[in-house]
Amino acid sequence: MKLTGNLLIGAQEVSATAGTMKALNPATNAEIEPSFAFGSSVEIDRAAQLADDAFDSYNNTSLEDRAAFLERIADGLDAITPELAQRLALESGLPIAQLEGEAAKSAIQFRQFATVVRQGRFRQATIDPAQPERQPRARMDHRLQKIALGPVAIFGASNFPISYSVAGGDTASALAAGCPVILKAHNAHPGGSELMGRVIQQAVRDSGLHEGVFSLVRGGGNETGEALVDHPLIKGVTFTGSEGGGMALFRRAQQRPDPIPVFTEMTSVNPTFVLPAALAARGESIGDGFTERMLITVGQACLKPAILLAIDGPGYPELKNAMVARVEAMNARTMLTPGINTAYRRNVKRQVEAGAERIAAGGEEQGAWDGQSLLFEVDGGRILDDASLAEEVFGPSALLVRVKDIEQLIAIAKQFRGQLSATMHIDQADHALATRLLPILERRTGRIVVNAFAHPQEVSYASIHGGPFPATSDSRFTSVGMSAIERFLRPVCYQGFPNELLPESLKHGNPCGLWRLVDGEMSKA
Ligand code: NAP
Repeated sequence: MKLTGNLLIGAQEVSATAGTMKALNPATNAEIEPSFAFGSSVEIDRAAQLADDAFDSYNNTSLEDRAAFLERIADGLDAITPELAQRLALESGLPIAQLEGEAAKSAIQFRQFATVVRQGRFRQATIDPAQPERQPRARMDHRLQKIALGPVAIFGASNFPISYSVAGGDTASALAAGCPVILKAHNAHPGGSELMGRVIQQAVRDSGLHEGVFSLVRGGGNETGEALVDHPLIKGVTFTGSEGGGMALFRRAQQRPDPIPVFTEMTSVNPTFVLPAALAARGESIGDGFTERMLITVGQACLKPAILLAIDGPGYPELKNAMVARVEAMNARTMLTPGINTAYRRNVKRQVEAGAERIAAGGEEQGAWDGQSLLFEVDGGRILDDASLAEEVFGPSALLVRVKDIEQLIAIAKQFRGQLSATMHIDQADHALATRLLPILERRTGRIVVNAFAHPQEVSYASIHGGPFPATSDSRFTSVGMSAIERFLRPVCYQGFPNELLPESLKHGNPCGLWRLVDGEMSKA
């Protein structure tokens, strides 16, 4: 597929109106052809108008037509996977095999959401039939379903350039819900973004949908993102990236004359607690497994296990030695962008200044934007004194916390801010302590893992990729898994409606064959 560098505004190709950029190969520090267009608020406005024009018809597509549309996107992704992985390897420094795996995961995700759409449960069809004889007051017929929020803005993330970007879970779940999408492409991978955008644009065309169902915009500064969040026709926003960026957009959306929901996924250190019996029994294998996961994708994953806490005692030396060995055996590798590399170096320095001792280092950097693998150790008392040690260092480094005793472990657990995940390694003899830790972790995380590692994330019905602030801006929702669709839905109640005016999912006789909550009981009748 030929890259033009144009913006995709509905079915239209739009060339630069506010400058251009070229992608950077972070491995060679060289620019890659072609030039990519930046747009202005004029293109944002055009995309938002088109999305608004598309909303009613797209929100009312039959479940079958919408599911078939999602499957066309999945097929399109499969068809371009080799080309997409090759381009993204140049733009991100990530290995081709990893990118192919990500493309496959994204295609699966679109197909899973097609199933979710066909099942129709996301509508949450609910019927409270009329009770004309009810005393002291008759009840009218009430019917509820969930409909799409409206046109939404999705910020593509840098770190998983497919599955959290243009063809990622946010786009899949928003389109499944019935929301037209305006995608703000991340400038770290403009070529890969265009390839994925063209697949979605083609699927819109092939499905006979209104062109405004999907647009892809790009900008050279905060103005593009700000214009999207400010636009009165945009009704929701999703974002994955830095806490600073996420919160700036969140606050902006709350200051609109009509505030809108913003679902940001920002920062998490995913603490791992190794309890004493598990530590004594298998400290070495836990240390090795933890460090292997920490180093995946050069530590640039939201679920990177960044902090391991263990009480000094039997098994601790073996755990520490295994972590040191893994880190020392790892070469420095290219990080995603110069900005992410610079932030990594800055945050490592901050950790050292806060009292963390460097106990292992991998191979030295060769390229300009390489990240060296690092391991630090600190006493539990120090992390209690300086909470900055519990902040994210985005990149291939981890902090081992040498804890004095159980009370100190509990105190540190209480100090963590909101997390996407937390992990406990336990044996039978640890159950009493695990029972004490559990409510502390429940209050602070979206997912708690036992005797495994939180990374990678499963995409399924029970998946949660969310958590209390600052992991996300709204702990009630997930950005991964089938229930990610709920971010893009809102309930509407239809009271006293004649059958022919009711939406299909709520009609008498249940023509869509959905599971519905009828007078408080699940029914397919
Ligand atoms: P970012 O700087 O937060 O940017 C993400 C996207 O949001 C970009 O498209 C950016 O657009 C836009 N944006 C950011 N701040 C904005 C603002 N104030 N107004 C309007 N738009 C804004 O994230 P990044 O570039 O991917 O990485 C930077 C850092 O974020 C990393 O070093 C890491 O610490 C963190 N990060 C964390 C995760 C995670 O999952 N925990 C994932 C990725 C990144 P422009 O670039 O056009 O301004």
